[in-house]
Amino acid sequence: MTAAAAQGPRRARRAAAKPAPIDQLAPLLWRYLRPQGARVAMLALCLLGGVALQIVAPQMTSRFIDLVARFGAAAPARRLWSLAGLFIAATLIGQLVRLAGSYFSASVGWNAANRLREDLARHCLALDMSFHNARTPGELIERVDGDVSSLASVFSQFVFQILGSAVLLAGILAVLLVQNLRIGAALTLFSAAAFAVLFASRRLGTPLYAAERQARSELASFVEERVGGLDDVRANGGGGHVVRRLEGHNDTLTARGVRAIRVAAVYIVLIANGVFIAGFGLALSLGVYLFQRREASLGEVYLLIQYTAMLRQPLETIGGQIQDLQRTMASLGRVLELQAMSPRVRPGPGLAWTGASPRIEVDRVSFAYAEGEPVLSDVSFHLEPGATLGLLGRTGSGKTTLTRLICRLYDPTAGEIRFDGEPIAKATLAQLHAHVGVVTQDVQLFQASIRDNLTFFDSAIPDARLQGVLADLGLGAWLGRQAQGLDTVLQGSGGLSAGEAQRLAFARVFLKSPGVVLLDEASSRLDPATERLINRATERLLGGGDAGARRTTIIVAHRLSTVRRVDRIMILEAGRIAEHGARAALAADPGSRFSRLLSAGLEEVLS
Ligand code: ATP
Ligand code: MG
Repeated sequence: MTAAAAQGPRRARRAAAKPAPIDQLAPLLWRYLRPQGARVAMLALCLLGGVALQIVAPQMTSRFIDLVARFGAAAPARRLWSLAGLFIAATLIGQLVRLAGSYFSASVGWNAANRLREDLARHCLALDMSFHNARTPGELIERVDGDVSSLASVFSQFVFQILGSAVLLAGILAVLLVQNLRIGAALTLFSAAAFAVLFASRRLGTPLYAAERQARSELASFVEERVGGLDDVRANGGGGHVVRRLEGHNDTLTARGVRAIRVAAVYIVLIANGVFIAGFGLALSLGVYLFQRREASLGEVYLLIQYTAMLRQPLETIGGQIQDLQRTMASLGRVLELQAMSPRVRPGPGLAWTGASPRIEVDRVSFAYAEGEPVLSDVSFHLEPGATLGLLGRTGSGKTTLTRLICRLYDPTAGEIRFDGEPIAKATLAQLHAHVGVVTQDVQLFQASIRDNLTFFDSAIPDARLQGVLADLGLGAWLGRQAQGLDTVLQGSGGLSAGEAQRLAFARVFLKSPGVVLLDEASSRLDPATERLINRATERLLGGGDAGARRTTIIVAHRLSTVRRVDRIMILEAGRIAEHGARAALAADPGSRFSRLLSAGLEEVLS
C-alpha cells in the first residue's frame, strides 16, 4: 500500500513536468562536453572523416564504370586497379573510422552523463529535509538515474547520429548538386518530401506507443502494490482476486502492444518502403532520361542510384532521433527543475568555534513542517556547557523536531539557536556536523562493512580506535563473533538487535567526539539486559568518552533509567515547554509533573 501511495504523486509529477525548451540543451552540452575537448574533437574528426569516405567510395565505382563503358576491354588496367584499390581502402578505412567514432561517442556520452549524475546526486544530498520529505526515494532514483540515462543518449547519440546523419545528407546532396545540378535538385526535393512523410507517419504511432507504455506501467504498479502488501493479501485469502486482476492488466497490455506493432508494421512496410521505392523510381527515371539525352554518363546514373539508396539511413535516423529528442527534452526539463532547487537551510560563513562543549541557547524558537500546523511554539531554554538535558513528552510533542533544529536539518520559522552566544546558522554545515553528534530514534545502518558504517567511509580512522570504542560500548564480544571482523558487511539494520544497532550508532558519535550530543532514544521497549547495556553506553557517552570533557547533551528520554542520570528535565507538551528545571529540584517537588511521572512511570503517563 505504501509503495502504491508513493507512486501516485510521483506519476502525477512526472506527467506534469514540462519539457525543457530546446535552447536549454546547448548550455548543458557545453558544460559537460567542454571538459572533454580532446575527445569531442576526435569524435568530430571521425564523424567528418567517416562521412567523407562514405561519400567518396561510390565516386570510385562511378569512375570505374565510366572507364569501362567508354573504353570497353581497352580500358587502362592500371587506372581500373587503382580505382578498385581506392574503393576498398575508402570502404575499409571508413568502417574503422566509424568504429573509432562510436567508441569516442560512447566514451564522451558516458563521461558526460556520469558527471551530470554525480552533480545531481550531490545537489540532492545538499537539498534539505523538506525537499526529501516531499519526494519518494523512487522518484529521486528516477530523476538521478532514469532521466540522466536518457540524457546520456543525447550526449552520445544525438551528437553522433543526428549530426552524423545531417552531415551525410548534406554531403551527398552537395556532391550531387555540384556534379549535376538537375540530379542534385531532384534528390534535394525528394529528401525534403521523404522527411516530411516519414516524420508525419511516425507520429501516427506515438499515441499507440504511449498507450502501451501506460498499460505497462499500470501493470508494474499493480504488481508492485500487491507484492508490497503480500502479507495482507495472503492473510485475507485475496490471491485469486489478485490473479484475476493481473489477467485483466495483462490482456490490456497485450491488446495495446499488438495494436502498436500492427501500426508499426504498416508504417514500415507501406510508408517507409513506399517512400523509398518511389525515390528509386524517381532516380531510375531521371537516370534513364538524362542518359538517353547524353546529359549524364553511366557512372553518374550509378551514383544517382547509389546515393539515393544512401539517403534512406540518415533520413530515417534524423526522424527517429527527433522523436527521441522530444522525450529527452522532457527528461532535461525534470533535471533542470531539480537543479534549480536550492536548499532552504543555507550554510553560514563559518565561525571560530573551539572544540569544547558549548552552552546551548534556544531562544523563542517556533517551527512548523507545514504552514499553519505549528509543531514547536515559542520554545526558550538554555543548557550550560557539559550539562545534560532529559527531554520528555508525549509522542508527537515535538521532541525529535527540536533535535532536528539543533543540528540544522531544518531552520526554525522564528527564533534562533546559539552555541556559546553564536547563532548556529553562522557556522558552515561541516563545522556544525563536526560539532554535533546525533543518534536518531531509528538508527540507519548501511549495507557496508562495519568499519564503513562506523567511520562513514573515512579511512583515516585507525582500526585500533574502532575496536577500542566498540569494546567500550560492550560490543567487543559481538565484534569477535563477526566472521571478518571490521570488514564484515552488515545487511543494513536487519540481522542486528535493537540494542546492537543503537550502540553502533553511539560508536559513531564516540569516534567523532563532538561537543554537543543529541540522543533520541529508541521508543521501543528493550529487554532488561539490553537496557542495561545501553544505559552503560549512554553513561560513557555522557561522561565525555575518551575526550575527557563532558559534552553538552540533550537526551530525548523514553525510559526512567535514562532520566535518572540527567542534570535537567524539560517536558514538552504540544510543542510548548510544560515544565523545565533541575532534575533534583523537580523530583523533590511533589507538585511537579516530573515527580508524578517518576511515581507513575513514564510509559503510563506519557503514552
Ligand atoms: P515520538 O515520541 O513519537 O518520537 P516526538 O515528540 O519526537 O514523538 P516529532 O517527531 O517531533 O515528535 O513530531 C512532532 C509533530 O510533527 C508530529 O505531529 C509529527 O506528526 C510532525 N512531524 C514530524 N516529522 C515530520 C515531517 N518530517 N514532516 C511533517 N510533519 C512531521
Ligand atoms: Mg521522536
